[in-house]
Amino acid sequence: MPKTVTSINSRPLSQKLMILYALMFILPGGFLLYVIWDLRNAVLNPETTMILTGISLHLGVPAAILMSCAAFVLMYRSMRKIHTVTEEADSFYKELHGAAAVPREITEESDEVQRISHYVTDMIGELRRKINDVDQYAQDLDQANRKLMEVAVVDGMTQLYNHKHIRHLLVAELRRAERFSHPLAIMMVDIDDFKKFNDAHGHLVGDRALRDVSRTIRNSVRTVDVPARYGGEEFLIILPEATIDGGVLVAERVRQAIEDHAFDTGRGSRKASITVSIGVSAYEGAPVTDSDLISLADTRLYDAKRAGKNKVIAG
Ligand code: GH3
Ligand code: MG
Ligand code: MG
Repeated sequence: MPKTVTSINSRPLSQKLMILYALMFILPGGFLLYVIWDLRNAVLNPETTMILTGISLHLGVPAAILMSCAAFVLMYRSMRKIHTVTEEADSFYKELHGAAAVPREITEESDEVQRISHYVTDMIGELRRKINDVDQYAQDLDQANRKLMEVAVVDGMTQLYNHKHIRHLLVAELRRAERFSHPLAIMMVDIDDFKKFNDAHGHLVGDRALRDVSRTIRNSVRTVDVPARYGGEEFLIILPEATIDGGVLVAERVRQAIEDHAFDTGRGSRKASITVSIGVSAYEGAPVTDSDLISLADTRLYDAKRAGKNKVIAG
């Protein structure tokens, strides 16, 4: 059986403090006892005079009494504080983790500092884990927000920007073009006879063709150009820094790429062709609103339709 050694180190802090304060009593207490002994000698034996006289007596006694009182008050207050804090930490920890979570070596009698330090270390570990969890939640939330933002601005079928977002972007691009006196062109694209295509191949094949047209448009424009699905089978493309002639060049490239593309019909290797009509308009210094640009491109698009479709008309 290992022998239990009770050293001052293993005592609760309140006991250690009590010992310290008790020592503080010894000095003034001893002095007072000495005074009493001296006084008794002087009273019982009138021939002897008191050893302690004058200043040492008149200052020493009140100082000793004062020191004793101060030591007592200090001891009492510190012990109460330590006791209260430890009790609160005890009950808080047990409330949080249950009484069973308190390790066996941490008993009611063990050192208060040891107990509090155990609780604090344990809770710091938990706090760290919680902070990591919060970090993870924040990252997940950020990702979810980004996805939500994307869903709000992107058309689900074609993965191009949607109508609402392209209108926002057009206002911003036009403002930028005006501020820096740069040109800006837009093009409105509409699939020719798409109703007939749907009637001939079915809407699912039509949907696939829409996605193919979107991809072809994206691959035919510059990286700075911004394509969007404006409506059912209509696309609006912003061409920053492009003049009307530059816009026509890009539009012609888009028209040609779609004409050249062999579209799947859903019936084996049989392919179908699709053409588009495109209207181009541009800001080149004369005051114009975003709506003016769109309606001008729209008018040119209908001109292209009237002119026989599969054409680019600018103005
Ligand atoms: P036009 O050459 O004059 O543009 O003729 P059109 O048939 O393309 O024009 P119209 O406005 O008469 O019809 C557009 C068609 O586009 C009708 C509709 O079924 C089809 N469409 C619009 N949105 C979608 C879609 O999301 N998927 C499919 N499959 N078809 C669509
Ligand atoms: Mg249309
Ligand atoms: Mg059409």
